[in-house]
Amino acid sequence: MPEFRQEVVENVRQGVDIVQVVGEHVRLEKRGKGYFGLCPFHAEKTPSFSVSQEKQMYYCFGCQAGGNVISFLMEHAKMSFPEALENLAERAGITLPVPHTDDSDAFARRRVRERDLKVMEWATDVFHRQLQNDSLGRVVRDYLKQRGLSLDLITSLKLGFSLAGWSTLLARAESGGFAPADLLRVGLAVQGEKGLYDRFRQRLMFPIRNRQGQVIAFGGRLLGDSDDSSGPKYLNSPETDLFSKGRELFGLDRAAKAIGKAGFAIVVEGYMDAITPWQYGVDNVVATLGTALSAEHAQILRRYTAHICLCFDTDAAGQTAALRGMEVLDKKGLAVKVAVLAQGKDPDEFLRKFGREQFMAAATAEALPLIEYRVLTLSKQHDRTTPQGLGAFGAQVAKVLANVDNALEREAYVKKVVEQYNLSEDAFTFELAKVQGGRFTDKLTKARHTMASRGVAKGVTPGWVRAARILLHIMAKNKTERQPMLDTWVSIGFIDEKYRHLATWLAHDVLHSDDPMSLAHELAQDLKSELAAALTEENLEGNLTDMANECFVKIEEHTLTLEIARVQAELATAEGASRVALATMLRDLQRHRKIPQREKVSQLRGYRT
Ligand SMILES: [Zn+2]
Repeated sequence: MPEFRQEVVENVRQGVDIVQVVGEHVRLEKRGKGYFGLCPFHAEKTPSFSVSQEKQMYYCFGCQAGGNVISFLMEHAKMSFPEALENLAERAGITLPVPHTDDSDAFARRRVRERDLKVMEWATDVFHRQLQNDSLGRVVRDYLKQRGLSLDLITSLKLGFSLAGWSTLLARAESGGFAPADLLRVGLAVQGEKGLYDRFRQRLMFPIRNRQGQVIAFGGRLLGDSDDSSGPKYLNSPETDLFSKGRELFGLDRAAKAIGKAGFAIVVEGYMDAITPWQYGVDNVVATLGTALSAEHAQILRRYTAHICLCFDTDAAGQTAALRGMEVLDKKGLAVKVAVLAQGKDPDEFLRKFGREQFMAAATAEALPLIEYRVLTLSKQHDRTTPQGLGAFGAQVAKVLANVDNALEREAYVKKVVEQYNLSEDAFTFELAKVQGGRFTDKLTKARHTMASRGVAKGVTPGWVRAARILLHIMAKNKTERQPMLDTWVSIGFIDEKYRHLATWLAHDVLHSDDPMSLAHELAQDLKSELAAALTEENLEGNLTDMANECFVKIEEHTLTLEIARVQAELATAEGASRVALATMLRDLQRHRKIPQREKVSQLRGYRT
C-alpha cells in the first residue's frame, strides 16, 4: 500500500533533523534563517549550498541539487533507499516494519558487511595482542620505540604484528568464530595453488579505519630479514567490498575534529608520515594509501575543510605526486598549498630532526600555493645559468602565470617571480604577453558560449519558470488545492514536461502528504531539483488564489508566444489552403494574446476558490 509506506517514510523523516544529518557530511554555518556550506555535489569556493531546518530540505543555488534528508543520503553517501531509511530510522529510534521481498537483497548485503567488519575487528585484536606479547612482539616494539612512538599512541591506534608463518591467522579463525572464507573475503587470506594462506606475514600492522572508526583494511610494513617470499616492504589489503583505497584516507576518523579546529588538513603519503605528526601533537593529518590523490579524496576532504596542505616526500616522485595532487584538489575548489621540507626527505624524518614548530611553519606560513610551487618545480628542471635554460624557464613560467585569471593576482606573481629568480621584468612581461595574446581570443569565445548555454538555468529566471514554481509551491503547501490546480494547468497546457510530472505527482501520488518534500526521494533527479527550487526560491505572500491565477495567465501567455512563433514559421513556407488555415489560426492566437491580463485572470475557468 503506497499510503502506508509513505506514512512510515514521513514518520522517519520527521524523527530526524536534516541540519544535523547533512552537518555530518558538510560543514554548515548558520546564516539568517538557514544554513550554508560548500556544495558536496559540485566544486565551489564560496558556499551556495543551503539547508533549511524549517522546510527540512537542501538546495544548491549553484548546481540546483536539491532534495530531502533521504535523497541526501542516497546521493551523497551513496546509500540505497532502504539503507538510507534504516539509517535514519535508527537515529530516530523508530523500528521499521518487516521489509518487502524486493528489499531483502539490501538486507543480505548488510549482514555480510556486518560480518566483514567483525572479522576485521577480530583480526585487529589478534594482531594487537601479538604485538603486546612479551617475546613474539619484541621486534616490532623495538622498531616502534626507535621510531619514537609512545605506548599510548600504539595502543590507541591498535597497531599490531602479524606472525611469520603461512597460516597462523587462518589457524585461529575458527576459535574466533570465523570461516577461512570470511578471511578470504576481507583480503586477510589469499587463495594459492595449495589452498589459502595468510596475506600478512611478519609485518607491523596498521589498521585502516573508515570515517566511522571501523577497521576496513590493513597496511603491513615488513620487519626483519626479507626474502623473496615476504613480498614488498609495504603491503595493503586488496580492494574489497569494505575497502577502496581511492576513496579512503588513513586517519580521517582520528583527524576530523582537529581539521575542523585547525581550519586546514595536512595530507601526507603514508601511515608513518601521518602517525609521526600525531606523536608530535599535530593531529590534523591524514594520509593517502599508496595511490595518487583522487577526485573522490578531494570530495571527502571538502566536507571537513576548504584548505589543504600537501606534505609529500621531497624526492622527484613525491614532488610530481604533489603537483598532480594540487591540481586535482584545485579543480575541486579547494585552496591548496605545499609544504616544502627543505632539509628532510619526508615528514617523518623532518619532524624527528627539526620538531613540531618548524614542521608547522613549513605547513602554514612557509607553504607555497599552487602557482608558486609550479614555478619552484620549473626552476629545478631548468639550468638558468645558460641562455637556453633561462629562456625555456621563462617561457614555461609565463605559461603558468598566464593561467591566473585575476589581473592583480597575476601582476603580484610576476613581481615575485622576477625578483626571486632575478629575471628582466621587461623581457618576462614580453614573454607573458605572447602567451596571453594567443589565449585571449580563446577565452572570449568560450565566455560567450558559456553565457549562451547558461541563459535559462543561471542568471535571471524567466517569468514563466517563476510562475510555474510558484504554482508548484502553492500546490505543495495546500493539499486540497492540488487537484483543482492540476485541472486548470492541464487546460492551459504545461510548456514543459517537468511541470506536468511534478503537478501530477503532487495531486495524485503524494495526495495525503502535507509535506511532499519528505517524499521527494521518489522523484527523478531533475524533478527533485525543480521542486527544491520551487520551495526554496519562491515566497508565498498575499491571496493565494489571485497569485495562482496570475501565474496561470503568465504561463498561458508564454505558451501563446511559443505557439505564435511556431505558426509564423510554418506560414512562411505554407501554400494554398493550409496557408489560409494557418493565417486564421495566427490571427486568433494574436487576438487572444492581446486580452488584458486582468480579464484573463477572471476568465480562468477551473481554478476558483
Ligand atoms: Zn551545488
